[in-house]
Amino acid sequence: MKILGLIGGLSWFSTAVYYRTINELINQKLGGSNSAKLLLYSVNFNDFKILQEADDWKQIETMVSDIARKLESAGADCIVMCTNTPHLIADLVQQKINIPLLHIADETAKEIVKQNANKVGLLGTKFTMEHSFFKDRLSKFGVETLIPGGADRDFIHASIFNELTKGIFKEETKKKYLDIIEKLNSEGAQGVVFGCTEISLLINQSECGITIFDTASIHAKAAVDFALAN
Ligand code: GLU
Repeated sequence: MKILGLIGGLSWFSTAVYYRTINELINQKLGGSNSAKLLLYSVNFNDFKILQEADDWKQIETMVSDIARKLESAGADCIVMCTNTPHLIADLVQQKINIPLLHIADETAKEIVKQNANKVGLLGTKFTMEHSFFKDRLSKFGVETLIPGGADRDFIHASIFNELTKGIFKEETKKKYLDIIEKLNSEGAQGVVFGCTEISLLINQSECGITIFDTASIHAKAAVDFALAN
């Protein structure tokens, strides 16, 4: 089994889901008392939140690359950033390490294609919805992305930082998300990408009218496939 190098803490609420999911899947596949071999470097989310607000992606890249190199020298066989937003600088991080970084958007795109969809809505931070790093990866797999309107993007972004990444999950927020998803569906989205790793802590598939592509569980599953590949 290969050793996974997780970068977590963005936020720890969803990193805990990755940890559990990876261990559960390894045990389902191997049985007995098997569990995952992994290294977890969990950051202080507040440091990254401040840098994201200041749009200081250079400093974020320096910090993430430094952590990725530490995990590599500690024995990790790949890097898994347990969050979507910092994938904005994933290509630069990849250039600084000699092990693969499992890109969350590539793994999500593969799952969308597998389910025969080619047009999806994307929910996440404003960085994820408005920059091209996520959408471009989907488009390479032939998947078109729809994003919510400006006011809805503001709402989602604020709710991620003021609620979800603090472990606050409100009914009224869930209702608003479901309305936004319905709008995307009426515009032609066949499914919705939860492009923020905390959204699946707020809404589950049974509450949502269209297929959910949950980046956290898709990414955790891809990490398990990597760990168990020959
Ligand atoms: N976990 C979130 C994501 O998947 C947001 C946290 C962050 O800004 O890094 O994008």
